[in-house]
Amino acid sequence: MRIFVTGGAGFIGSHLARALLRQGHEVDILDDLSTGRAGNFEDLKASARFSCVIDSLDNISAVTRLAARADRIYHLAAAVGVRLVIDDPVGTIETNVRGTEIVLQAAAAKRVPIFIASSSEVYGKSPDLPFREDGDLTLGATANMRWSYACSKVLDECLALAYHRDGRLPVVIGRLFNTTGPRQTGRYGMVLPSFARQAVAGAPITVFGDGTQTRCFCHVQDTVRALIGLMEDPRCYGEVFNVGTGREISVADLARLVRDAARSGSPIELLPYDRAYEGDFEDMMRRVPDIGKIERMIGWRPEIPLEQLVQDVVADARSESSRGAVRFAS
Ligand code: NAD
Repeated sequence: MRIFVTGGAGFIGSHLARALLRQGHEVDILDDLSTGRAGNFEDLKASARFSCVIDSLDNISAVTRLAARADRIYHLAAAVGVRLVIDDPVGTIETNVRGTEIVLQAAAAKRVPIFIASSSEVYGKSPDLPFREDGDLTLGATANMRWSYACSKVLDECLALAYHRDGRLPVVIGRLFNTTGPRQTGRYGMVLPSFARQAVAGAPITVFGDGTQTRCFCHVQDTVRALIGLMEDPRCYGEVFNVGTGREISVADLARLVRDAARSGSPIELLPYDRAYEGDFEDMMRRVPDIGKIERMIGWRPEIPLEQLVQDVVADARSESSRGAVRFAS
């Protein structure tokens, strides 16, 4: 098949493009390199089955052309990361809402099956843990810019499901929980790569808040397997799925795990939220997916343990540091 991946120079998109090429497909990516990196797909350019367009989702004719020749689309391009969302709320909303609208319209013109990347952020402050796909979403006040990302993803989901209900488009929505692994940048507040780079550099590992907040981290290879599995099964069309792991770890424990894996002497420092982010930042204490639905539907379960994931991210940080690549502050 010919497969179009938006955001293919990004972290998950570049792993997905690689996996699809390995399966023998042809892959077109479109990315504006705003948070993605050319280095993420440099080696893929050698393949005759790979092509990349460096452009924005705003380029409707480019998106329409790539969608028209695709057998499947994975829409991953988005403004991502807490820091970016707080720093550029207008850009976040425009990219995530208008960009998705453009991609859905282009897909609908040829009824190309499409995967839409949503986020665990849509559950917001819901107290109903573990989060189920049919549960209520509890978002905070619009005056707090933090929620613009969640709102934009909720709207993406609503629009995609509306296209499906109108009979205009086969759509699958994946609500991704923390996905991490090699090649993820720490620049936009992604916790595990930030910790790994700090530990490898022997710099203080900065934990926001008091570190008791917990998260569940899924290896990008497991996530990619889920995305491909969901698109391969037409019973998934018109449905929303959580994609993540149920294994919780506190952010402070994660910092210790990273420090041990890196055999680093870095101190662990707590940074209050009001110093990490301006204004009235709200963080969730826990965010745990119920992954029963995806398991029942396609038999997917995460397979790579957290310890292996941490090892992989530390190894990546080490090789980046030895190549003299830019190291990111937290
Ligand atoms: P990423 O930032 O590495 O990937 C996003 C890609 O989209 C980048 O390469 C960026 O350059 C590109 N992009 C942004 N705006 C664009 C535009 N206007 N036109 C073209 N390209 C544009 O982040 P990621 O972690 O790989 O995220 C991929 C998707 O998964 C996103 O939709 C994100 O919301 C979702 N997601 C990720 C996580 C996670 O933990 N990584 C969690 C929840 C949801």
